[in-house]
Amino acid sequence: MRPLWKSVDLAALRHNVRVLATQAGAAQVVAVVKADAYGHGVAALLPVLREMPCFAVACMEEALALRALGLTQPVLLLEGVFAADELDVCAAEGFEPWLHDGRQLAWYRHAVAKPACWLKVDSGMHRLGFAPSEVPQAVAALQGLPCRGLATHFACADEADLSHAEAQWCAFDALPLPPGWLRTAANSAALFALPQARADWVRPGLALYGMSPFADRTAADLGLRPVLGLHSAVLATHFLARGEGAGYGCGFVAAEDGYLATIALGYGDGFPRAIASGAVRVRIGAATFPLVGRVAMDMALVWLGREALPVGSPVLVFGDVHPVEVVAAQAGTIPYTLTTMLSPRVHTVVKNG
Ligand SMILES: *Cc1c(COP(=O)(O)O)cnc(C)c1O
Repeated sequence: MRPLWKSVDLAALRHNVRVLATQAGAAQVVAVVKADAYGHGVAALLPVLREMPCFAVACMEEALALRALGLTQPVLLLEGVFAADELDVCAAEGFEPWLHDGRQLAWYRHAVAKPACWLKVDSGMHRLGFAPSEVPQAVAALQGLPCRGLATHFACADEADLSHAEAQWCAFDALPLPPGWLRTAANSAALFALPQARADWVRPGLALYGMSPFADRTAADLGLRPVLGLHSAVLATHFLARGEGAGYGCGFVAAEDGYLATIALGYGDGFPRAIASGAVRVRIGAATFPLVGRVAMDMALVWLGREALPVGSPVLVFGDVHPVEVVAAQAGTIPYTLTTMLSPRVHTVVKNG
């Protein structure tokens, strides 16, 4: 078996669920599991996800995949439906589409079988949703229909300056709410940074998987434990004399004599190719070493300097003591992408099941 695998720690996930439930107070925690649970793999997380009250995904196809795995809880469809006939499936399966425009609202009003739905409000992110000024009319159109409530999403709740997020919350909070309707607003960042926005249901994704949405606070600072680790191994080592190049385009040239390791990790595994040589560090034993040269489809190069490590030495690409948030910053991206992009070629090992 090719030595590139992701470890998925169910004890860490269970721990995070408890932390988020405490943080949520009286609000219900909706587990956001879009993009196959941010690349962790819904199937691998099943023993813990089975205990969650509700899920959120981007679209009906993802919701059907949850049903195929035997999950029977309500599933919020954050982008709603893409055609009127999907509403029949939603009604039959217990999916709750968000309605974000007049087209979706009309489909819903004309649907024979109506699933529970949510009205999506654009409180300031300007991606999807009814403007606050349009909400009263949309609410009136849903009178007597099984709409659960109002939903919105924050653009800047992870930033040090919370003024935009606070303005979004104020716009959302000011909307008149029909009796019995619920409200949901908070993602991971808002759940921690904007307690007033917890409302009835909170929707953490990133934090559930033990990653911090904040640049200045680690997951450990938030009491969270990383669920995913990406593990590789040394496939070969070479001694390079100063001035010798390695990899495609000789993208790395040794500045001094030393050892270069080839590890199993490539863009065919979903690892980004567009990283600067030397910027990203991997952990081997107790030390970190730079990824150098160009990331290829199946392999990447690690400069070991004076250390001649044996073939087979384990390499931690990220996870646990080498947090994905740190590696993402080195790679010029965000932790969401490093986990979500992992391809099916990466094996999964479930820990603490
Ligand atoms: C992805 C998403 C979330 C979860 O966001 P995190 O930052 O991962 O917590 C919540 N709500 C909506 C509408 C989303 O699209």
